[in-house]
Amino acid sequence: MENKSFAVIGLGRFGSSLAEQLYSLGYDVMAIDENTERVQDSIEIVTHAVQADSTDEQALKEIGIRNFDVVVVAIGADIQASILTTLILKEMGVKRIVVKAQNERHGQVLYKVGADRVVFPERDMGLRVAHNLISPNVLDF
Ligand code: ATP
Repeated sequence: MENKSFAVIGLGRFGSSLAEQLYSLGYDVMAIDENTERVQDSIEIVTHAVQADSTDEQALKEIGIRNFDVVVVAIGADIQASILTTLILKEMGVKRIVVKAQNERHGQVLYKVGADRVVFPERDMGLRVAHNLISPNVLDF
């Protein structure tokens, strides 16, 4: 197994599930959220969890965000925070930035400000379930 380290910013349903899965697969995972309760809830399921606002460049510096191999931005509803966080991570020289987008437009902006990969979890899951419904014998799509 590759010795990759991950930071996940935003511990909603998507971010926390991603962080927990990576950690259970044996990877080093730092979980970050501005909401203290969400940070508390994730302490058991990741390597480290910290409370921070990801639009605060200084806070990200103190966490040492540049040292992670992959940083995932899993902030959904607050599109402005998601875009600003991505821009700051890019300017800080983060190696690989993966960002969750709400819609196509949001995704386009994320690529423009430096995302290496944009994911659309709701859209992709809809596609996956549709394929599974028409060919239920296909276990995974
Ligand atoms: P999901 O669908 O995955 O549950 P969501 O799309 O509803 O998530 P939100 O709940 O809006 O997304 O955000 C996910 C998390 O990101 C929340 O726990 C929120 O506290 C956190 N978050 C939002 N803005 C920031 C920020 N600037 N810095 C750190 N965390 C943030």
